[in-house]
Amino acid sequence: MRNWAGNLEYAAAAVVRPESAQELAEFVAGAAQRGERVKALGSRHCFNDIADTGGVHVVLDRLPGGIEVDSARRTVRVPAGTTYGALGAALEREGWALHNLASLPHISVGGAVQTGTHGSGIASPALASAVTAIELVRASGELDRLDAASGEEFLGSVVGLGALGIVTALELAIEPTYRVRQQVFEGLPWDAVLADFDAVAGDAYSVSLFTDYAGDTVPHAWRKVRVGAGEDGSAGAAPASFFGAAPAGRPRHPLPEMDAGNCTQQLDVPGPWLDRLPHFRHEFTPSAGDELQTEYLLPRARAAEALCAVRTLAARLAPLLYVSEVRTVAADEFWLSPSYRQDSVALHFTWKPLQREVEAILPELEDALAPFGARPHWGKLNAMPSAAIAALYPRFEDFRSLVARRDPAGVFRNAYLDRVLG
Ligand SMILES: Cc1cc2nc3c(=O)[nH]c(=O)nc-3n(C[C@H](O)[C@H](O)[C@H](O)COP(=O)(O)OP(=O)(O)OC[C@H]3O[C@@H](n4cnc5c(N)ncnc54)[C@H](O)[C@@H]3O)c2cc1C
Repeated sequence: MRNWAGNLEYAAAAVVRPESAQELAEFVAGAAQRGERVKALGSRHCFNDIADTGGVHVVLDRLPGGIEVDSARRTVRVPAGTTYGALGAALEREGWALHNLASLPHISVGGAVQTGTHGSGIASPALASAVTAIELVRASGELDRLDAASGEEFLGSVVGLGALGIVTALELAIEPTYRVRQQVFEGLPWDAVLADFDAVAGDAYSVSLFTDYAGDTVPHAWRKVRVGAGEDGSAGAAPASFFGAAPAGRPRHPLPEMDAGNCTQQLDVPGPWLDRLPHFRHEFTPSAGDELQTEYLLPRARAAEALCAVRTLAARLAPLLYVSEVRTVAADEFWLSPSYRQDSVALHFTWKPLQREVEAILPELEDALAPFGARPHWGKLNAMPSAAIAALYPRFEDFRSLVARRDPAGVFRNAYLDRVLG
């Protein structure tokens, strides 16, 4: 099996598909006794070896149980292998919504939460921030449930890099459904972005800038406006200008040369949250398909400086870059969340499928972003030494201790975790 991007062939010796949490628990306990390594596999959308194993892959698609909404508590319990697309459709049918989504709905809830996946929005934290409880199988084979009442361990485990157990189900906070209008603007002057980044990024519920860092303007700004309860969607219709950028006259794809057919509805037409917050539609291949990705999160207060630093590299990046997306993510409390206690700007790079060349340029990019304390996305390519990553997380040592306590024999370890955790 390969990952979604096709740049990694998993080394797993076998794949198991347990049909109950109990069967999974017994399998993990047995693997621990046999000294085998086990790794949960989500929807395979990571670009590095975080989901790889030389042991056994566990796929959760045969676990029983469905999506269960608890209207009174405003939560949903969702099997971990469910995609956000399937979850969104089920919630929408019952009049509920999540606070945000990533650029694509194809990813599993369990895998996305474990890696700190996020969307965009100055007041919108990463997808993990919606988690109110996780149910997991420990390395010991014990079935456990963690929620806010579990205190520190909950904060250390939700964004857990797959190191603390196999999550069978998650409970997420939900809110009444809402509608969103999406508009793309073209030719946003860099001067406006750098003069007041917060004003640009905070102008709507979600703002994404798509750029190659060259020239005087940002080619595309995607603006997602949340339609207020009771509004018909016409209130606050798209402005004629967005900080000097003009509305696009036709639907756009984030990659300038690609057709917008696989993108969600634009041109200011209101629609359900799940059909507007992701850039890409669930029924099509997202993004370019044949690509690699890298992303760094750093303090939003330093966004303008960091963008200037990357702009100096524009000519070096150009041969490898399809496009870069600039988003914002609000702070959260999960120890290994890349936006841990830090309102962040996220600089994402969609690369051409030239892994050797991309890996060669990453140290240069990381040097440029180092002064800002840039934290790499756990599921994307980076070249940062483990010690440098550890130093960026105030609770990293606590996480390391938690992993050592909960998985002393290293059942859930893989080469990635050996590298990152030491
Ligand atoms: C086209 C594209 C667009 C993307 N857009 C975004 C974006 O907008 N924002 C963003 O932040 N990221 C984005 N990503 C990255 C993506 O969200 C992450 O890679 C995410 O982890 C994918 O989830 P997955 O289920 O595919 O994880 P996998 O790659 O399958 O697994 C990731 C990790 O989670 C662990 N894991 C999976 N399931 C479980 C489980 N049940 N219990 C315990 N551990 C588990 C795995 O063991 C592994 O360690 C994008 C990726 C692609 C390919």
